[in-house]
Amino acid sequence: MKAFSAKIITWYLQNKRDLPWRNTQDPYYIWLSEIILQQTRVDQGMSYYLKFASEFPTVTHLAKADNEKVMKLWQGLGYYSRARNLHTTAQIVQSEHKGQFPDSYEAILQLKGIGEYTAAAIASFAFNKPHAVVDGNVYRVLARVFGISTPIDSTQGKKEFKELAVTLLNKKEPALHNQAIMEFGALQCKPVNPDCIHCPLQSMCYAFEKKKVDALPVKSKKTKTRDRYFNYIVLTNKNNTIIRKRTEKDIWINLHDFPLIESEKEWDEHTFLKSKEWKKLIGNTKFKIRNVSKTYKHILSHQKIYARFWEIDSAEPLKKWTGENEILIPWNKISNFAVPRLIDQYLEDRK
Ligand code: SF4
Repeated sequence: MKAFSAKIITWYLQNKRDLPWRNTQDPYYIWLSEIILQQTRVDQGMSYYLKFASEFPTVTHLAKADNEKVMKLWQGLGYYSRARNLHTTAQIVQSEHKGQFPDSYEAILQLKGIGEYTAAAIASFAFNKPHAVVDGNVYRVLARVFGISTPIDSTQGKKEFKELAVTLLNKKEPALHNQAIMEFGALQCKPVNPDCIHCPLQSMCYAFEKKKVDALPVKSKKTKTRDRYFNYIVLTNKNNTIIRKRTEKDIWINLHDFPLIESEKEWDEHTFLKSKEWKKLIGNTKFKIRNVSKTYKHILSHQKIYARFWEIDSAEPLKKWTGENEILIPWNKISNFAVPRLIDQYLEDRK
């Protein structure tokens, strides 16, 4: 057990990446980096971290920021509930903790958007408290080195891995140990093609000895995905268009997109024009379909979205079509609004 920690720490000190959030013990920056890096690769998250750290240098700056600005800055990173929780948590830290991040694992865990992993990461990296982190990298390293085939997404698996991680934790150097095992999983014991030949744990690794590297870790459930078909109505009249704020309980809450008709499958022009949704929307207004975009395929964790943008010129001012949560804007103001990546891609292609 001791050898495990010593080996990964030695490896870490020689191989770690120089990342900006590693050069600080400020819990605010550590929290910021951890939220950004959930479900996001380091190379993709880096620019977002730098933008947030520079725009909001303290938790107080973030707490007092306009929500629209926070969402706009997050644009393109996906999983937008993270941005909403980030903002709410900053406000809670500001109002209930006088702008100081709490320093106990239990108090950190109470904050919105912070689960066991993130609480352990902040408690150990910022305050050097002995809490073991268990993220995807840690599951992989432990499953392979110790030959654990209990599914990592089962209740029993979570318990088993957590107990082992706690047992292995170097209580004298919890921050270093946690950083080391995560980095080891990210760079050395990678999901595909781990570098077993040059691995310092090779002699103690069950998976290497038994040739089971590709079989570990085990996951029991397959993520179910559903297909969705979006028909975005991009209306234009006198250089104005309509966007809407998404407020329903669905993906992309508080972001903006266009009026939308969702269909069971992809529509051709005939089906679109005959649909009762379109007829209801357009009424007697004279219009012309100027263009229909290609199909944009957008993959989320549980959904595949197939979107087409129906570009429609209206003969009448758009004001009468502006419904609840919809905003009539000049086209050149659209970049002021936070939009999902899919809409951003479409707008880029339109230029
Ligand atoms: S020998 Fe291979 S599978 Fe085992 S810990 Fe090292 S990199 Fe991972």
